[in-house]
Amino acid sequence: MVGGGIIGTMHALLALEAGHEVLHIERDPQPLSASVRNFGLVWVSGRAAGAELEMSLRARQLWEEIGSRVPIGFRAQGSLTIAQDEAEFAVMRAAAQMSDAHSRGFRILDRSQVQELEPVLQGKFVGALQSTQDAAIEPRLLMSGLHSHLNQNANYTWRPNFEVVDFYHDESGNHVTDIRGVKISGDLMVICPGSSHQGFLSEFLEGAPLRRVHLQMGTTAPLGASLNHSIADADSLRYYPAFKDLPLDTLPPQDPVSANYKMQLLLVPRLDHSFTIGDTHEYDEPFTHEILEAPYDHLRSVISSIFGAPAPAVVSRWSGNYSQITSQDLYYRREIAPGALVVTGGGGRGNTISPAIAEETIRSWPK
Ligand SMILES: Cc1cc2nc3c(=O)[nH]c(=O)nc-3n(C[C@H](O)[C@H](O)[C@H](O)COP(=O)(O)OP(=O)(O)OC[C@H]3O[C@@H](n4cnc5c(N)ncnc54)[C@H](O)[C@@H]3O)c2cc1C
Repeated sequence: MVGGGIIGTMHALLALEAGHEVLHIERDPQPLSASVRNFGLVWVSGRAAGAELEMSLRARQLWEEIGSRVPIGFRAQGSLTIAQDEAEFAVMRAAAQMSDAHSRGFRILDRSQVQELEPVLQGKFVGALQSTQDAAIEPRLLMSGLHSHLNQNANYTWRPNFEVVDFYHDESGNHVTDIRGVKISGDLMVICPGSSHQGFLSEFLEGAPLRRVHLQMGTTAPLGASLNHSIADADSLRYYPAFKDLPLDTLPPQDPVSANYKMQLLLVPRLDHSFTIGDTHEYDEPFTHEILEAPYDHLRSVISSIFGAPAPAVVSRWSGNYSQITSQDLYYRREIAPGALVVTGGGGRGNTISPAIAEETIRSWPK
């Protein structure tokens, strides 16, 4: 297994459980890429109808099952997408009438029902679209939790600080080498490089329907009260494919900062009562190297407006890249030699669907 992000790690976990011996390679001393820079959301509600929703629901089941035995902070906390005016609420009511609304766990709540669930919300809003299917894991616990679990299995070997620079296949199997020429071989190999599309992979990924997306995020100071749901604002209706056929043109005009940085508010309560907040989306490379302040000002102003109180200070800021498939497929999978796959491109739902991606790979292997 190459790549210590969530896609590679889910492959490692499910391959071990299927009885394989796993050598897991990562270029960094520990995973530092998208999988530790995200919200940790297992976000089912916004997925496109059909195959994408089905895969997300299957992945949600797998997350819950893994979360019941591995300390990754899994919480079936659901979400509230907040309507700050009647126009937003009307679109959310239409969402709750979609034919697959039940699978998404949708329910319309008026203001008082929202406040029964979340008394801390005292600001300007008329109601919310609740999803009981959305869940979250704790990004700070995810990799350490999975690794301590994997390390208990004698058939698992973790090999950090090994940057693959070459791949080849011959009659004895599949092989990768690092810059020193150290070789690691396997009969089955899954390369999960995240957004590292270059280097030795460029020959295999040339022309692949993949792009990279750059995002900004942050963490706030702990709020002095608890919040039990993840929160989204109505901009998320513009962003998630589930809602594409709804009358989005009836939404109020988007805030210019939000429109400029292709933003929505997502706010995920953490176990220490801080919030992970975001996010922006940048699609054209080269990406900016700067952490820009305007998006955080916008997020804090939306949070203040929904909470009816000053937003907690932002105490850390970071950016991250994910790999996104641009075709109709749900993720990118290519066999580059017999028994060797490249798997990436899960996009902004990559954490959500990662266990279901790994399950598909393992099912395709010879028994
Ligand atoms: C800011 C942000 C917020 C997000 N929020 C969410 C969310 O809430 N919910 C959701 O479902 N998804 C979310 N996503 C998307 C999700 O995080 C990604 O789709 C997912 O983490 C991708 O996992 P991965 O394993 O493919 O990639 P990565 O996490 O990037 O891991 C790839 C790993 O491969 C290693 N690697 C690469 N090349 C080599 C090499 N040559 N040799 C050895 N190792 C190599 C890298 O070092 C890295 O550790 C978010 C992404 C970002 C950036």
